[in-house]
Amino acid sequence: MGDFDPDIGEGLDPDGPSAEDLDRFGSEFIACPNCGKDIYDQAEICTHCGQAVEEKSGLPPLWVMIVLAMVVFAVLFFLTL
Ligand SMILES: [Zn+2]
Repeated sequence: MGDFDPDIGEGLDPDGPSAEDLDRFGSEFIACPNCGKDIYDQAEICTHCGQAVEEKSGLPPLWVMIVLAMVVFAVLFFLTL
């Protein structure tokens, strides 16, 4: 008795990034539209040639989405008054 140490940690400081981190940052690559080299899917600028990378799916920029969301919420809010 007494030798048992309950503090021997599980999951305190795992080495390296967690699975969630890897998932968040993503591991997918796309080809740069300018130089054709592989770059991160979420990269805004090609790390090889410096060319700005267009959104592949044609979605509007994030701020547009945010503004639209705010407008929708505002409309819904006033409709419920
Ligand atoms: Zn490039």
